[in-house]
Amino acid sequence: MNQESDDLMDPIKLGIIGCGIATKQLHWQALQKLRHKFEVAIVCNHTEPKAREFAQMAGGVPYVLDYHKLLQHPEVEAVDITLPIHLNYQATKDALESGKHVFVEKPLAANVDDGKKLVEFARRFPQVKMVAENYRHNPVFHKVKEYLNRGIIGKPYAVFWDIFHLIDPRRNKYAQTQWRIKHEYPGGFVFDGGIHNIAALRLIFEDIVAGQAFTKSVNLMIGEMDSMSFQFATKNDVHGVFNFFASVQGMSKNELAILGKDGTLFLENQERIRITMNDKIQIDETVQTENGFVEEFEAFYEAVRKNGEVISTFSEACRDLEVMIGALESAKRWDELELNG
Ligand code: NAP
Repeated sequence: MNQESDDLMDPIKLGIIGCGIATKQLHWQALQKLRHKFEVAIVCNHTEPKAREFAQMAGGVPYVLDYHKLLQHPEVEAVDITLPIHLNYQATKDALESGKHVFVEKPLAANVDDGKKLVEFARRFPQVKMVAENYRHNPVFHKVKEYLNRGIIGKPYAVFWDIFHLIDPRRNKYAQTQWRIKHEYPGGFVFDGGIHNIAALRLIFEDIVAGQAFTKSVNLMIGEMDSMSFQFATKNDVHGVFNFFASVQGMSKNELAILGKDGTLFLENQERIRITMNDKIQIDETVQTENGFVEEFEAFYEAVRKNGEVISTFSEACRDLEVMIGALESAKRWDELELNG
């Protein structure tokens, strides 16, 4: 199907629940590029100024303060749930019961139990169910996977992903949201941000099946936890270290390095792929992406209108949750790792 045949189909009438930062700065940017595929019919925020502001931004659409009213709206076909993490569980259940297709922001739920219950609950409904895990749709990670599958660096055996950055609560809007500061889920920013990387690692390699983390809380102003180093193994015997440090002074870095038997693949800042072999750069390319935001909405459209495959399923997102929370839990077991000299 091409753009012309898409034009013949009605855009999906979307209801947006939650008019905060992600909706205004990420989802709305993507939806504006996909006007022929989505039409925002109504929006909801429980506090009126934010509901009104975004309703105006979205072209003067109606707004409600109670999402149940949005779910009763007969014209709304699908909902985009962009709420504080601990509200995803109930809002997703309510949306499914109302018969709408569901596109819910990551992480699927605030804990593994709720995630698993949602996976089970969702099975009862025929609508499209998708988690807005943009990393799963970011073309750069698919490109990395393609290079590995082509065997360019030989069999990968180790991976290192270093994310060192500073989330400054005076400047970072996310760090100012009260539900993040007093979070009702484990792991604070490590969980909220790091789950993206877990999703990408699980996309590039096979599932993560074992691991041990240490965690730190460097700046309590941004929540209970901001730093984690997670050493892990995948099902196909790739070992790795994922470092997520969000209160780093004087250094900023986002580099993924994959060591293969014949070469090394680097991904810098999630856009530049370099492959080196025999001390020479064999490939150096920059992948222009929208970080997966446009692509994830396109995938949702394809699933709703054309029965397209959902790759960011509730089950995958639940497994991301299990791995992330498993890593956080493993950090409590350091006393079992004592080295007897
Ligand atoms: P946010 O700015 O706090 O937005 C959440 C919005 O929901 C706020 O406007 C809040 O209003 C509203 N809200 C709270 N309870 C509500 C209720 N019961 N009914 C209706 N509205 C309600 O947070 P955010 O940063 O946008 O994050 C929202 C979600 O997006 C989270 O799941 C987060 O993990 C995800 N996210 C994803 C990415 C990504 O890269 N994919 C990036 C950022 C965030 P008040 O503020 O007035 O309470």
